[in-house]
Amino acid sequence: TQPPPRYTQGKLIEKMEELGLGTKSTRHSIIESLYERGYIYGDPIIPTETGIAVTEALRRFAGVISTPEMTAALEKDMDAIAEGVETQLEVVEKSREMLAGVMHLLENSKAEVAAEIRNGIKEDRILGVCPSCGADLHVRRAKKSRKRFVGCGGYPECTVTYPLPQTGSVMPTGETCPQCGSPRVRLVNRGRKPWIFCLDPDCPTKKEGNGKEEERPAG
Ligand SMILES: [Zn+2]
Ligand SMILES: [Zn+2]
Repeated sequence: TQPPPRYTQGKLIEKMEELGLGTKSTRHSIIESLYERGYIYGDPIIPTETGIAVTEALRRFAGVISTPEMTAALEKDMDAIAEGVETQLEVVEKSREMLAGVMHLLENSKAEVAAEIRNGIKEDRILGVCPSCGADLHVRRAKKSRKRFVGCGGYPECTVTYPLPQTGSVMPTGETCPQCGSPRVRLVNRGRKPWIFCLDPDCPTKKEGNGKEEERPAG
């Protein structure tokens, strides 16, 4: 099946309006803070692994705050205060009860929530610096195939990408390849010797007989 097209910022603002999320003056800054916290990047908007992990953890352990209904209900209550239909005290009391319930749920599954989010952050870690634009390089996932690759944080202005093996943990080395200037990374697979290699598949160090350490250990 074809996944739905990604939302642009403009389309997302429309959708928030439709769902009653935020107000005309806050919607833009809500989206801005998602960029700042590293939950999303690009436009059309793409979620980072951290963003996906936070959403999944909330959905799984405190489902009520991951739905637009709760936020929309709170926004409506604010309007009710403004219109004098409800008092501030009533609304604060109601919100407090709702949020106490959510806190209780999260407290009870603190370890699971932390583990889920930690995994996402691990996937998003900076692998090095883009040799083309100087932005950070991260592990990304292809939209359709879900296959991982390295992408530039400067996307969509910078479209530098590198292929990655699909298994194993990819970690930064802090080193730059002396031959081509791309970052060198470490691939760790359980039960195997770590493999350190230059991200660029066309790098001269990948040519046969050039630099023994670049060879992938057998296993
Ligand atoms: Zn770049
Ligand atoms: Zn290289």
